[in-house]
Parts: sequence; C-alpha cells; structure tokens
Amino acid sequence: MNEKTDLKNLTLPTLELFLKGRGKERFRATQIFKWIFQHDVDTFEEMTNISKELRRELAETACISNLEPETVEQGSDGTRKYLFSLGDGNGVEAVLIPIEGRNTLCISSQAGCAMGCEFCLTGTFKLTRNLTTAEIVNQIMAVERDLVKNPPLLLADPGAAGLIADDSDEGDDDQGGAAGIRNIVMMGMGEPLHNLDNVIPAIQIMIDGNGLQFSNRRVTVSTCGLVPEMERLGREIPNVNLAVSLNATTDELRDRIMPVNRRYPLKELLKACRDFPKPGRRKITFEYVMLGGLNDSLADAKRLLKLISDIPNKVNLIPFNEHEGCDFKSPTQAAIDAFHKYLIDRHVTVITRDSRGGDISAACGQLKGKLEKLESI
Ligand code: SAH
Ligand code: SF4
Repeated sequence: MNEKTDLKNLTLPTLELFLKGRGKERFRATQIFKWIFQHDVDTFEEMTNISKELRRELAETACISNLEPETVEQGSDGTRKYLFSLGDGNGVEAVLIPIEGRNTLCISSQAGCAMGCEFCLTGTFKLTRNLTTAEIVNQIMAVERDLVKNPPLLLADPGAAGLIADDSDEGDDDQGGAAGIRNIVMMGMGEPLHNLDNVIPAIQIMIDGNGLQFSNRRVTVSTCGLVPEMERLGREIPNVNLAVSLNATTDELRDRIMPVNRRYPLKELLKACRDFPKPGRRKITFEYVMLGGLNDSLADAKRLLKLISDIPNKVNLIPFNEHEGCDFKSPTQAAIDAFHKYLIDRHVTVITRDSRGGDISAACGQLKGKLEKLESI
C-alpha cells in the first residue's frame, strides 16, 4: 500500500511539483498551501475553493498531519512548556516565552541529539531520530492554536528579552502579531544543522508569505558548530539568523565539553561565521553557557572578545542550569555580572538570559524530553 503524502512536509514549490506530477494546475498549490498553513485546516473537505473532484483525489493520496500537546505546563513567569508525543514513543518539547506580549517560541529539531555536549541534558539522550518537516512546523501551529484558546499573561519584563530575538530592528512590528508568535528560535531539543534536509523546508514554510508568514529576521537557527552545514544553510537560506553556541574560548576546553570541536575547531568555526551571509546589518549571536569556575573568568571574557571582534556579533550569556547527573556548576552572580560588564564596557551587545521557566525546567537547553514518561502513557 502506498503511504499518503503528508502535505505539511512540502514547501510551496514542492507542492507545485506534487500537483503537476498528478496533472493538476500549479496555481492550485498556493490555494492548498494557504488552506493548510494560514487557515490551519486538517481535512481537504474544508478547502471550499477547490473542486470536489480534486479534494476527493487529494484525500486518497495525501494527508494533513497535526500535533496536539500531550501536556502544557505553565511556569509562574508565564513561560509555557509543551510536550508533544510523536506517536512512536518519542517526545519533544517546545517552550513559549511571552515577553511584553511578544512571544518567542523555542522549538525542537530532533528527538535527542547526537552531538554529546557534556553540559547538555538533551545530549545525554543521544539521537533517537530526526523530526520531519511536518513535525517541526506542527510545533508552531499547535502553539498558535493554544494561544488563541488561552492567551498568555502579558509580562512587563524587557530584561527577559534575551532569548535571541533581535527586537532592535524596527519597522515590521506587525509581523507575527502581538497575540501570536513573533519569534521562532530553533534552540529546543536537537542540533538543527544535523537535520538540515528537514529543517530547511521547515524554515521555508515559516518564512513563506503564503505559509506561516514569519519575517526571516525573526527566525533563528542555533548550532553547536557544524561547519559544512553552516555553509549549506547560508547558501540555501541566506537571510536566516544564525546563533552559534561557542561556550568556550580555547580549543582545549571546547574539545572537552563539546566533542564537535574536535572535528571543527575554533579557527574553522569562526571562519565559517565570518563567511556566513549577513544581509543588512545582521549579526551572528554567540551563545555562551557560563559554567561556574570553568569558563566564567575575566580572562575568558577577554579571549571571547578577541575571538569574535572581527565578526558582526552579539553575545547571549546563559548561566548554566544545573541538572542531575551533571557535575558542572552554575556561575556566581558576581561572575556573571563581571563577565557581562567586561563586554558591555567594550561596546558588545550582550544579553544575559535569565532562567525563565526555571520552575518548570523549561529553559532552552534544559529540555528534558521526558522519554520515560511518554513510554508509560
Ligand atoms: N543544538 C543547538 C541548539 C539547541 S541547544 C546548539 O547547541 O546550539 C540550545 C542552547 O542551550 C545552546 O546554546 C546550549 O549551549 C545551551 N544549553 C544546553 N544545555 C544547557 C544547560 N544545562 N544550561 C544552560 N544552557 C544550556
Ligand atoms: Fe545537542 Fe545543542 Fe545539546 Fe550540544 S548543546 S548536545 S548540540 S542540543
């Protein structure tokens, strides 16, 4: 039996090819694409401007998938964590962070992660599998649906805007809508650049004017530093934002805490950052997880500045979130402040991420997957 094609896996050009291959007019693709991604229908019956015959034919060969959150937890700060069951025993999480009515959604790209960073909980799960394009965009669509039903608290807390999204650029404040999701960051479970075959079409659907209609300035992909894949991403989607998890300022330490560094050491990684397309005044975000007593000294801050100073940059300091079975320590507040001040005083744009969602362990990079829990459902 032929498997039905899940149309949520298809970008608009691919949907056009899909229809063309079945002898249909190409313009139908735009209509169907809008029904799926803008009107969020899940049956072909609802596509009223499509002929009955085509609707019937589509229902035989294609389907429209959906994700429903298994659980939604809300933290005291308004952060919401969604746990999605993927139907095969795997689970992934997405985290919504409302900041003054501007919602940032952190989504997952893989179940588990193969990169094995020593400080990361997702890494300890190893890679179970890649998410499909549909599973990536369905996280966004499910959260949008939840936001309509349960509008989030509006928090007057600009300090928390640290979650990457660059709100400094003006002029498109309508994008994403105050009630809906404004920014997408691929900083949940998994290494997005280890799943580019599915992540690239997902981003194309996110930024398509006929699709989810996000401004490309509001979509950020975070990587641990897979150099060839950074090049591919830059070639295929040159206007997406890139965040790089640097986390160490010497190869010696980076080799130890991020195995990927043994393949692509700092020099190569920074060259790839330099070469990455940066349209307009776009900058690369360097994420820096501060590990108490390990990479949080002023000497580190100084080396960090030197490493990134010839790349348009901003820095996102993330105090390490302690978790069981991991010996690293959070930095002291004094170390965070001194590191932050060192960079600010030298005119670096720095944001220190607070531990949003701490009470529901929803902080990005802290996503648990709760695989055990899902298996028992
Ligand atoms: N794989 C990608 C994106 C997911 S990880 C990447 O590594 O960039 C998202 C961010 O969370 C990364 O910057 C990572 O360094 C950080 N992170 C992982 N575990 C963490 C922890 N326990 N505390 C704080 N940040 C963490
Ligand atoms: Fe994977 Fe990112 Fe965690 Fe490293 S920090 S193990 S790349 S999710």
